[in-house]
Amino acid sequence: MGRPTLLVAVAILSVFLWMFVPFNLLNQHLPWLRTPEKPQEQTASPPRPAPSKKAEKLSAKVEVPFRKEDGVITFRLSDLKEKLRIDYDYDAKEGLLTIRQGKVHLTMLRETPVLSRNGVYLPVEAYPIIRKGEIRIPSVVVEEGLGRQVEIRDEYALIEQNASVPVMAEPKRLEVPKGDARGLIDYLSFLDTPIRGARVSTKDSHLPGAPRPYRNGVHEGLDYFSWTSRISIDSRTPVIAVADGVVVRADHDYQEMSEAERNRYLQIGSQNGGQTPQYILDKMRGRSVWIQHEKGVLSRYCHLSRIHGDITVGKKVKKGEVVGYVGNSGTSDGAKRSNAGMHLHLDLFIYGEWLWDDFTPAERRHILQSILDR
Ligand SMILES: [Zn+2]
Repeated sequence: MGRPTLLVAVAILSVFLWMFVPFNLLNQHLPWLRTPEKPQEQTASPPRPAPSKKAEKLSAKVEVPFRKEDGVITFRLSDLKEKLRIDYDYDAKEGLLTIRQGKVHLTMLRETPVLSRNGVYLPVEAYPIIRKGEIRIPSVVVEEGLGRQVEIRDEYALIEQNASVPVMAEPKRLEVPKGDARGLIDYLSFLDTPIRGARVSTKDSHLPGAPRPYRNGVHEGLDYFSWTSRISIDSRTPVIAVADGVVVRADHDYQEMSEAERNRYLQIGSQNGGQTPQYILDKMRGRSVWIQHEKGVLSRYCHLSRIHGDITVGKKVKKGEVVGYVGNSGTSDGAKRSNAGMHLHLDLFIYGEWLWDDFTPAERRHILQSILDR
């Protein structure tokens, strides 16, 4: 056979093989026929570890640098955004950080140790650390808020790319009655008074929605002062949980502001066009306990003089359990270290929303009396 004949024979054989031999068989035996594998699409993840048995287990994790801040593992939010495909937005004026990942919506507030997930507060003490345009969040937010396992190594942390940790059970979200007094009374009927024997204040200025010359112009909660609430109230008056729930905030380490400090914060508020930033409003509430209840209801007990020793973040409390004692922390009297102005400020929210916008002052009074004065 001459050289041309040989080439023709090889060509015919190749075509024959191509047409009649199953492709995968060819692939197995004739590696040069394989189509090159597509490179793995890797938008945000670093090179994956070699495919050993051990590494396979870790393949869904990404390396993220961390830094310890006051003994707490923290991550830079921009790193997490890139590697975990989350989104975030920081409102520097309000001090409000929102992190989004699909249907999960986390909110955190500067200098305020609470974490809300879709309007429900988690028993997690964490706040964003804001420094020169860099935002860091503690590891616990990634674990509890975003449901990712975090493994700390010497140089970096390994974080799951997708949520796997079952986060706090989220019962079906209920419809919140808006502008429907009867509906709201029913919705909140499982609540009770925060001070035994006390009644909703006789003064309209102590009710939610009452005008204020500062703090965004509106009083957010309900105040219990001595005698306007029927009974004598002072720093020995116990404050009790309005319903069963889980403690999500307890400021045991609260430090009272000096007058100068407090005025400086109020100054920032007035420079902000009368819109006191949310993180500064939080300072004005003083030593606080927050309890998350069923149906998305949150109760906040503010200006406390003391917090009961058992009340710690994550503790389950029963309705009527003592959470702390009335005080004036966070107020101008508190800053003066005086005993004047002792009162409880009670806030109620449903799924993080203020309840009182759609009601008249008379309706607000009626609703609160129906729920708390039974
Ligand atoms: Zn108040």
